[in-house]
Amino acid sequence: MQVANGSVKRSAAVVGAGVSGLACARALAEAGLEVHVFEKARGAGGRASTRRETGFSFDHGAQFFTVRDAEFARLAARWVADGAAAPWNALFAEVRPGPARELVMREPTETRYVGVPGMSALSRDLARGLDLRFSVRVDGATRRGDRWHLTAQDPARLSTTIDLGGYDLVAVAVPAPQAVPLLAGAPALAALVAGVRLEPCLSLMAGFRETLAAPFDAARVTAGPLSWVACDSSKPGRGSGEAWVAHATPEWSRAHLDAPPEEAAPLLLEALAEVLGIDPGKPALAQIHRWRYARAEGQLPGGCACEPSLSAGACGDWAAGARIEDAWLSGRALAARLLERS
Ligand SMILES: Cc1cc2nc3c(=O)[nH]c(=O)nc-3n(C[C@H](O)[C@H](O)[C@H](O)COP(=O)(O)OP(=O)(O)OC[C@H]3O[C@@H](n4cnc5c(N)ncnc54)[C@H](O)[C@@H]3O)c2cc1C
Repeated sequence: MQVANGSVKRSAAVVGAGVSGLACARALAEAGLEVHVFEKARGAGGRASTRRETGFSFDHGAQFFTVRDAEFARLAARWVADGAAAPWNALFAEVRPGPARELVMREPTETRYVGVPGMSALSRDLARGLDLRFSVRVDGATRRGDRWHLTAQDPARLSTTIDLGGYDLVAVAVPAPQAVPLLAGAPALAALVAGVRLEPCLSLMAGFRETLAAPFDAARVTAGPLSWVACDSSKPGRGSGEAWVAHATPEWSRAHLDAPPEEAAPLLLEALAEVLGIDPGKPALAQIHRWRYARAEGQLPGGCACEPSLSAGACGDWAAGARIEDAWLSGRALAARLLERS
């Protein structure tokens, strides 16, 4: 792209509009590049997004975020000042369901923040001013000369490929197993990323019209099929009705990953009732979301995977940890590495 002083503006393609992709895209755009963000879903946010169903609002992926890094703390403080995030001052517990049920109230050791009115508020803020292209599933990135050419699946005719054009830089910001095929043009990167595993998570969304009077708002669960339950409507700025989210353990999720939702939902509802210690009755809404790649383990040196000589890299929570803050730091780290040579 030609700019006013006659110089050519460098261009970047970012694949994935989760927190890491948006953080990377913002940093590249702020450095003066022309950036296009391609996202296969109809909106941004990825695993930190909000699902709205018949009056209920569920954060079906990330539940809250915590803040440890000084730069991320500045962003979080701005989110809070702008009303895009707020501390979640809830009743937290640890529950061991079963015959010898144990329930201990637990004060969190760090402040838990949530997006307002949903976790999607964070990506909405990060996406502001960026050029996002939704419903585009990138299926290839090929290096020709010194440029990257991206292609996507045509949603109308899946066997047909759409040409997305050529870019100077490419940043792949999707879960590691999904990044590997997109990095085929940078084999060393693909090999590095191929070593990263992410555990699955089945997430139950259950909406109740009446108040359940549960003894807590959210709990870590230490036995049975669930690892976490939360009343999303206890978060600031949510609507009416009780919206509960229950996350299955990695083991249970792996074993039931391909089970039909109508089989998994009643099992997880029963487990939720056991954790709550009350019979919640029949929910007005019960849905399952399948996160095939939910939580990462470990990290890469430098918090991203980058090959500056090829102007290509990959980022995501999996490269820097497993949390929203890690995803943001990874996106920023990748942008910085790519810009070293721009
Ligand atoms: C169940 C669950 C609970 C969690 N709880 C917490 C929590 O309480 N606190 C916390 O800090 N973190 C939590 N996390 C982790 C947090 O959600 C992630 O760390 C963070 O959202 C990851 O962001 P990301 O940008 O790295 O990846 P993602 O959010 O996965 O973004 C990747 C994006 O790429 C898109 N994409 C994939 N393939 C393609 C393609 N071929 N073409 C175009 N687009 C593509 C996807 O649609 C997605 O939008 C949780 C995650 C899950 C799943």
